[in-house]
Amino acid sequence: MTCLEAIRRDITTTLTSPSLKKEDIIPILQMDSKEEMQALQSLAMEVRKEQVGRVVYFRGLVEFSNVCRKNCFYCGLRRDNREVNRFRLDEEEILRAAAFAHENRYGSLVLQSGENQREEYIDFVCRIVRKIKSKYDLGITLSCGEQSRETYRRFFESGAHRYLLRVETSSPELYGKWHPDDGKHRFQTRLECLKSLKDTGFQTGSGSMVGVPFQTWGDIAGDILFLRDMEIDMMGIGPFVEHSETPFHRKDAACLIPREERLNVTLKTIAILRILLKDVNIASTTAMQALDRFGREKGLMFGANVIMPNLTPVSRRKDYLLYEGKPCLDEDALRCNNCLPVRIACVGDTIGYGERGDPLHYFRRVSRHSSDGD
Ligand code: SAM
Ligand code: SF4
Repeated sequence: MTCLEAIRRDITTTLTSPSLKKEDIIPILQMDSKEEMQALQSLAMEVRKEQVGRVVYFRGLVEFSNVCRKNCFYCGLRRDNREVNRFRLDEEEILRAAAFAHENRYGSLVLQSGENQREEYIDFVCRIVRKIKSKYDLGITLSCGEQSRETYRRFFESGAHRYLLRVETSSPELYGKWHPDDGKHRFQTRLECLKSLKDTGFQTGSGSMVGVPFQTWGDIAGDILFLRDMEIDMMGIGPFVEHSETPFHRKDAACLIPREERLNVTLKTIAILRILLKDVNIASTTAMQALDRFGREKGLMFGANVIMPNLTPVSRRKDYLLYEGKPCLDEDALRCNNCLPVRIACVGDTIGYGERGDPLHYFRRVSRHSSDGD
């Protein structure tokens, strides 16, 4: 048996064990040699090919508002960042992005914003979702933060069928270190929201960041098990990238996983999730491209199968800076549209043009629970 085969066998034995624990995952997250990375990558690609195919689904991303009531210590859009020029796109601008997605046969749109619970904002989201659905055959994913169960129901009934809400970290203690203790940032609320989203019927996406101050290897391993145990359908895992107008840019903020290692650890996390969870959708996130110009392509090579080309009007992109060094700030949707297919072909994948690319995990989860009488 070659060295590569032996490493592959060890990874498979570990990840298929019914008693898999955090401590078993940590050594895989810490794998570093060329052979180990190659073994992990080839296993993840085998599972990806067998379970979801070598097809990449596009979700056109529209960052429609940066107004946010929250103050997450890591994010450039946090309420206390007075340097941000706050905006909300109007209906016309969002509909133009939807038209572009439709004309270019993207299967879906993601509408993302800061967190806003005002009635007027919720009405706006419901209205725009209904309008898009009445004009175009596009799947709609929302990423609008924590909302009440009733609001999630209204979003769903308007026609959105997927929702992304990262848990950020599955450790309540760490969550407390990443957010202010002001009653608005509660780990428990995050969990309740994820539960409400699943109960409402959404294809539910969640995920975490890699390399945020104070995070340990055990925390990342815990996130992987959390996503498995919560039966999440769509994963969004991305490296933390600093923003100078946030508390986490301070030099004394303890980053246990240094910036140079964050992309590799993110890739390993994606690979483990693919091997473990098999039929979920996994996004190759923009933050990966912020750390490496081929970060997103590398994500596909480690098991991801979704890419979110940015359709936000170029004039607004500089106002939606979660972190510094965000790529494609001055690249309009058309240029992206020309560049991405070449990049994707280079890794040997095809694009699922015109396909929704819903996560198979969702359909299996729903049918499993209905046959359980759940
Ligand atoms: N406001 C909504 C929410 O928080 O769920 C949606 C928009 S928020 C900007 C989307 C994601 O951006 C968050 O879930 C977080 O993981 C990520 N994010 C924020 N700041 C980041 C940073 N500095 N580096 C990497 N990702 C970041
Ligand atoms: Fe607001 Fe989301 Fe940024 Fe937190 S991560 S400050 S909720 S936009």
